[in-house]
Amino acid sequence: MKCAQGENFTNGQLQCFGNIELSPSAGILNYGQGLFEGLKAYRKHDGKILLFRPEENALRLRMGAERMCMPAPSVEQFVEAVKQTVLANKNWIPPPGKGSLYIRPLLLGSGAVLGLAPAPEYTFLVYVSPVGNYFKEGLAPINLIVETDVHRATPGGTGGVKTIGNYAAVLKAQKAAKSNGYSDVLYLDSIHKKYLEEVSSCNIFIIKGNVISTPEIAGTILPGITRKSIIDVACNQGFQVEERLVTVDELLDADEVFCTGTAVVVSPVGSVTYLGKRVTFGKEGVGRVSRQLHSALTSLQMGLTEDKMGWVVELE
Ligand code: PMP
Repeated sequence: MKCAQGENFTNGQLQCFGNIELSPSAGILNYGQGLFEGLKAYRKHDGKILLFRPEENALRLRMGAERMCMPAPSVEQFVEAVKQTVLANKNWIPPPGKGSLYIRPLLLGSGAVLGLAPAPEYTFLVYVSPVGNYFKEGLAPINLIVETDVHRATPGGTGGVKTIGNYAAVLKAQKAAKSNGYSDVLYLDSIHKKYLEEVSSCNIFIIKGNVISTPEIAGTILPGITRKSIIDVACNQGFQVEERLVTVDELLDADEVFCTGTAVVVSPVGSVTYLGKRVTFGKEGVGRVSRQLHSALTSLQMGLTEDKMGWVVELE
């Protein structure tokens, strides 16, 4: 669906996956005016298709659109576009336990603009692809390197919204980490260079005793929907959960560490390398709490446990 700056989106239509036409001076190509979202559809054992909290993605897109001077579809339009795209591609949803259908909503400044200004026209689209595990390790520990030179975001920047440029900014550090055998990069705050921020595409949690801590949302990290859900799940299971500044020293001293995200779900961290020193957690096995939270969340997302929170949307 399309809309002009200052107007509202009208409902769009389904079309076959293919290239889209853009002016060379489209806002997204020249000034990075683009936002995306990521969510998943799971196939339940009875054949029903399940979405997890899609309205949260719609709200996050709307928040990001405000920051990026873009109009955004309403929550209803967003959820309807996701539902229609998933249903039209339902044959691509893997069977239960074999993966999921990754859903990628994209909002872009598609109108032509030469001088620096918001684009005059916007496009919202949704495409899908079947996926397996994000990390090849699956539910096995991943190895992170703490980045001390490159920062993903600064206060007042766009780290808190899911804009495309945030990801271009981390490609170099992530590529270097992968070629050195790490699964991903953990970023620190850009001012004190000692507080944890997040990983390239997921949020981070540390566990010490019965207390689970995660960096607070203060504009420089993405407010992950999995993060928010895991906080509720962990609280319901009797853990004390703290959202606050978490130092890299606390991370190195943690009993267990895990990451959360739509793609990574709950991924246990087996080791962290900081300034050349490698610290391991839980003897590099999957920690008890990480396993427990992974199981609670995935059972909910796949419709294996009762959805007391009303988070799961059933499609058919
Ligand atoms: N941080 C970043 C930078 C991300 O790209 C993602 C993935 N969207 C997350 C955190 C986790 O967010 P969510 O749980 O909503 O997928």
